[in-house]
Amino acid sequence: MTNKAVFLDRDDTLISDPGYIKHPSQVKLLSGVGQSLTLLKKMGYLLVVVTNQSGVARGILTEAELEQIHHHLKKLLADEGVYLDAVYHCPYHPEGTVKKYTKESDLRKPQPGMLLKAAKELDIDLSQSWMVGDSYRDIAAGHRAGCQTILLDTPGKTQVRDFYDPEPDKRAVNLREAVNILRMVEFQQKAQAARAARGQDEEPAAAAAPPAADVPAVSPAVEEMPPPAEPDATKEDTASAASVEDTFIQQPQAPAPQPSAPVETKPEPRPEPAAASAPEDTSRQLLEEILHRVKTNSRYDQYAEFSVFMLLAWLVQALAAFALVLSVWFWLDKDRGVEAVQTMIGYAVALQLLVIALLMMHDKNK
Ligand SMILES: [Mg+2]
Repeated sequence: MTNKAVFLDRDDTLISDPGYIKHPSQVKLLSGVGQSLTLLKKMGYLLVVVTNQSGVARGILTEAELEQIHHHLKKLLADEGVYLDAVYHCPYHPEGTVKKYTKESDLRKPQPGMLLKAAKELDIDLSQSWMVGDSYRDIAAGHRAGCQTILLDTPGKTQVRDFYDPEPDKRAVNLREAVNILRMVEFQQKAQAARAARGQDEEPAAAAAPPAADVPAVSPAVEEMPPPAEPDATKEDTASAASVEDTFIQQPQAPAPQPSAPVETKPEPRPEPAAASAPEDTSRQLLEEILHRVKTNSRYDQYAEFSVFMLLAWLVQALAAFALVLSVWFWLDKDRGVEAVQTMIGYAVALQLLVIALLMMHDKNK
């Protein structure tokens, strides 16, 4: 197994999802997808699309039509200079109307069949690979195949997670941020490998160090260290600068104490946390949800596609604010009449409406 891959869901990951896509003309790449896939290629990943296409089983489109759709998808990406290594689809569904395709299948996500098939055919090391998609079915398929996973958690699109769905390893607002996360993970892995290599170099020097009796056993600070905290999902959902710092600010591990005789130690009982009352629970959950939404939207803005409409909206917004300031100034100025104030307020309102229109056009063209 020599290759690593990024397995990609198709709809709402690479292209917009208007429902069942039946014709190549409906294929619209999401913003930034070409650039993101180009970066993944440069990082050495194979690009493999794995997509459920129950529309075939339901008689909405044929496999030949699906082939044309995927051919067009490849052409759109080729126009942006990036090539897919493979596209796998599952045409089966247990509630189909076309007999040939009406059945359960291990290929259908959340089953990992498509990923396992690709791994066999393309010589892919699944433990070095990632699954990226916008639903928990994608995450489950990647998890079962032994890949790491990134859930695209787009603002405004609620992800429904069943209790048996695995949590993703990471979360991103779009493919652009997912790629950024992968770059950060690779950077951290290289840094850890470099530290490990440095540690091995230092081992011979440690062997020639003074005997253990001369070395203080374990510092009180280490003895009193609290047990590792439970993993915090919020710390994993973004490749923030803080996460880089965490990686490099780890304290060097102290050598394990070598007691002359085994000593039995009893763990101290931990105090049970006080049970929170129901209103407190609700308030905390509400605050956590608000925090999650704020963080997600902030990241979405960070990774959102720039557009001319957005630029114009900002410029017109500045003019609208200026018109509003002028209207206040005219109102305070005794020499100006009421008409001048009303005119300036009229300009401000008109400009603000223009801003809203530009933002709507920006959203429509994303
Ligand atoms: Mg999808």
